[in-house]
Amino acid sequence: MIKNIQEWYYPENVERALALMKKGRVIPYAGGTSFHRGGTVSAVGMISLKNVGLNFIEETGGKTTIGACARFSKISEYDFRDGRNMLKVAVSLAASNSLRNLITIGGSLASLPAWSNVPTPLLALNAEISIAGTNTAVIEIEDFLDTKPLDGATLITGVFLPKAPGIGVYARYARTTFDYAIADAAVYAGIVSGRLKNVRIAVGDVFPKARRFHEVEEKLNDSLFDIKKITAVLDEMKIQPSANPTFSKEFRVNLVKTMVKRAFEQIGEQAHEN
Ligand SMILES: Cc1cc2nc3c(=O)[nH]c(=O)nc-3n(C[C@H](O)[C@H](O)[C@H](O)COP(=O)(O)OP(=O)(O)OC[C@H]3O[C@@H](n4cnc5c(N)ncnc54)[C@H](O)[C@@H]3O)c2cc1C
Repeated sequence: MIKNIQEWYYPENVERALALMKKGRVIPYAGGTSFHRGGTVSAVGMISLKNVGLNFIEETGGKTTIGACARFSKISEYDFRDGRNMLKVAVSLAASNSLRNLITIGGSLASLPAWSNVPTPLLALNAEISIAGTNTAVIEIEDFLDTKPLDGATLITGVFLPKAPGIGVYARYARTTFDYAIADAAVYAGIVSGRLKNVRIAVGDVFPKARRFHEVEEKLNDSLFDIKKITAVLDEMKIQPSANPTFSKEFRVNLVKTMVKRAFEQIGEQAHEN
């Protein structure tokens, strides 16, 4: 636990939490798992978000809204009925059972550790992030990751997932189930009359931040579902992994391409079963 915290606050709504943040040197505490390594932070106070009313998952107008304080364990028990299920798979594979009972989706998006299981599936699902405070907005996930619009007085309040009638597949590779992932991939696509539609490919953990592969998606959209042709397109994917002391660049490039290819194979199999 961090050592220099002298004050704890337990606000009962978002407005009160934001007012406290404006005081300065007090920071939000959601699952608290990013503080597990101990050390010090420049803040002297913590604002617990547990009572602010953001621990929910609900359906509104075809969208799933996930409150920022929903924990991985809650998301992993939710009954997603379409491609949104890939988020459930992703968070179910993170860390350990006891950590999943703590880690929140909002805390994960605020801290964005390179190994997080959250950004990659959210990119493939075209999610939107709602924030409140000095910046109040609903931001597409790609813009959120590019601009990181959080300052000391802005809270993430929730995540919106639009309908996803296609099939979503998430995969993560780590040396052991508990280890941080070396790479993760999320692929979403529909298959209509044998052709790929709405293809979205996202890859994370090999880069400082997860990203979409729009140029590859464009090549695949509207093409006939043919795993040989998909593999040929994926072979051309330009992947520049960041430095890793343990695994070579070549290994991780091949790993990502294999994960994405297998995701397409699963999409083909599931479409065949439906
Ligand atoms: C041993 C270990 C293994 C892990 N393995 C994985 C893994 O495999 N996959 C994975 O996805 N995660 C994993 N995690 C979790 C990950 O590393 C982060 O700790 C976690 O995502 C942070 O979420 P939290 O809810 O605990 O946030 P907190 O630790 O409470 O907060 C994180 C940061 O975000 C800020 N914050 C929190 N909520 C908000 C909000 N709503 N708005 C604005 N700012 C906010 C806080 O002030 C803090 O700066 C692991 C953690 C540990 C300790």
